[in-house]
Amino acid sequence: MLDGENVYDLVKRAAAARQQAYVPYSAFPVGAALLTRSGKIYTGCNVENASFGLTVCAERVAIWKAVSEGETEFEALAVVTNIAGSPCGACRQVMVEFAPDMPVVLADLSGIDTITSVDNLLPHAFRPEHLQEAARVAGQP
Ligand SMILES: [Zn+2]
Repeated sequence: MLDGENVYDLVKRAAAARQQAYVPYSAFPVGAALLTRSGKIYTGCNVENASFGLTVCAERVAIWKAVSEGETEFEALAVVTNIAGSPCGACRQVMVEFAPDMPVVLADLSGIDTITSVDNLLPHAFRPEHLQEAARVAGQP
């Protein structure tokens, strides 16, 4: 659970991950740190590509690293940019998949700017249960 103590550690870890960003095209490094229910922190940075559509955001790198290690229950995500930027729409949708109520901490290089939540970032999101509902309505098991 995110609290007054670990929130600063999470932001620090995101800021450190930001240092690894591979951003030769945008020069916009982003770092993310994801706290799991088990207490582990997975970090990510954005990784760009000359084929721009292949670029992956820091938030998704952190989430995919966690999922690839068997973690799917998330407590909080911190994102650090030089402007306390907010996650893109694609990352918000990925967050909804695993943690629709998760707190999201937006920080810049001087500290925390905003603490919001996935619900606030992506209201009325398309959720996994919508697929189940669609199958039920269609009469599929
Ligand atoms: Zn993104």
